[in-house]
Amino acid sequence: MTAPRYPLLALSRHRMEIDGQGVTTLVAGSGCPLSCAYCINKKLLCQAPTLVTAAELYEKVKCDDLYFQATGGGLAFGGGESLLHMDFYDALRPLCPSWHFTAETSLHVPPETVERAARLFDAFIADVKTLDPEIYRAYTGSDLGPVYDNLALLYRLVGPERIHVRVPLIPGYNDKADLARTVELLNVLGLMDIECFPYVIREEVNP
Ligand code: SF4
Repeated sequence: MTAPRYPLLALSRHRMEIDGQGVTTLVAGSGCPLSCAYCINKKLLCQAPTLVTAAELYEKVKCDDLYFQATGGGLAFGGGESLLHMDFYDALRPLCPSWHFTAETSLHVPPETVERAARLFDAFIADVKTLDPEIYRAYTGSDLGPVYDNLALLYRLVGPERIHVRVPLIPGYNDKADLARTVELLNVLGLMDIECFPYVIREEVNP
């Protein structure tokens, strides 16, 4: 069987408390089912990735093992949709079982993927955007689809402590009332660790 390969776009080392606990290396991978109008990663996602095996990625990031061990940190996977690469994480996990693994995800994935991810990742940063179906479609180009059910599923599987939800105020797409409705729906699910923030549009990623 061929080893699963990860489409690596970039690594960002020594991040503190931004993408997970402790010192974290952000691992950015290619591929996303959504097409957000103000995607901050649009340029990155257009680049050709370097395909790496789990052993190859481990070699690239293990220089920070001491920092990870001392601070309870590890790797945060983003991109892109991190949960597209579950076979790869299954191969990587045994190489660094004590590192903290965080997944940044839109949760726009099949529920089976959420179940696998719940067993593998220590924490999740759920990039929810909005829970209004029309606004979601206008902004991401996709149906809201499984997102709400997947939030409920993830909550059941890992509990609220391991889920941080991010909800942006997106210029031209939603407003404070939509933000409040989305937070209300998340609270109904039991999710309380919610970060609301105004989305800053960078010129180079304007649609
Ligand atoms: S989910 Fe993230 S990576 Fe995917 S299109 Fe939206 S902003 Fe870009």
